[in-house]
Amino acid sequence: MTQPPPCTRCGRPSAYHRPYSGERLCNPCFTDTIKERVQRTISRHDMLQYDSRIALGVSGGKDSLGLLKILTEIEEDHPNAEIIAISIDEGVTGYRDEALTIATDACKTLGIEHITTSFKTLFGLTMDEIAASPRELATCTYCGVLRRRALNQAARELEADRLATAHNLDDMAQTALLNLMRGDTNRMATLSPGGHELTGFVRRIKPYCDVPERESAMYAYLQNLRFQSLPCPYAAEAQRNDIRNFLNRMEKKRPGTKFTVYRTALKLAPQTHTETAGHCNSCGEPTTNQTCRTCQLLEQLQKKG
Ligand code: SF4
Ligand code: ZN
Repeated sequence: MTQPPPCTRCGRPSAYHRPYSGERLCNPCFTDTIKERVQRTISRHDMLQYDSRIALGVSGGKDSLGLLKILTEIEEDHPNAEIIAISIDEGVTGYRDEALTIATDACKTLGIEHITTSFKTLFGLTMDEIAASPRELATCTYCGVLRRRALNQAARELEADRLATAHNLDDMAQTALLNLMRGDTNRMATLSPGGHELTGFVRRIKPYCDVPERESAMYAYLQNLRFQSLPCPYAAEAQRNDIRNFLNRMEKKRPGTKFTVYRTALKLAPQTHTETAGHCNSCGEPTTNQTCRTCQLLEQLQKKG
């Protein structure tokens, strides 16, 4: 049997090929590179301070559990920093229940404080109810807006100064293309890895944004992380799926495409973020509009229902 090519870092037999960089890596070196990459992303974008109180959105999927593990390791070197995991129960029967158990178990194992809140408690509706209602938009649009609100509210109540989410490189490149296709360069600002300071909003950071989805899966596998692999039953509705397939095809033909798309989107994003948040007329939460997007969507659903 022929030996696999040697690991670019240590010379042992490699197990993973990274087409966009040409590296071949053995399992331990692969694992090291993911942690190092997250550390580089954090310092390049000045994401954390030595005493940051970080709220991390943990869904129970591979990305959030991988990032939870890495942030926990990083935090061990910063005794004044703190991590609190937040899970949001959107109310998708048979899907979210399993993920929440996994998230709870992972936090227990790592000794991380974990809180859960739900769409039903905060907004009086589950995603199942929204999906079954007459509505104008795709289910994921409602889910995304409500989840962002729920996470911000929970992080603020926990007095966190950072809200970390585990968006990976694929998520970022997909969002970049979606924004481009909708002609919305303003929304490119939300792709910023280090986030913006805006009154009423906990600063959002995305330490996993340079980790491709495939590598996040490999990392979770090598770390023996138990994560939810079932897709959400509403995912098939999303336009994002077409973009995902397109980007995966392009990445295969031209390795590095996802990085290029993401980096280009960041260049297109407005460079100064001068918006100041006011308060929503309806719910009082911070918003840059008169009525926040959450209230707009909930009102639409009420009118239709
Ligand atoms: Fe929500 Fe859509 Fe994700 Fe399902 S796939 S959890 S509906 S955003
Ligand atoms: Zn509102």
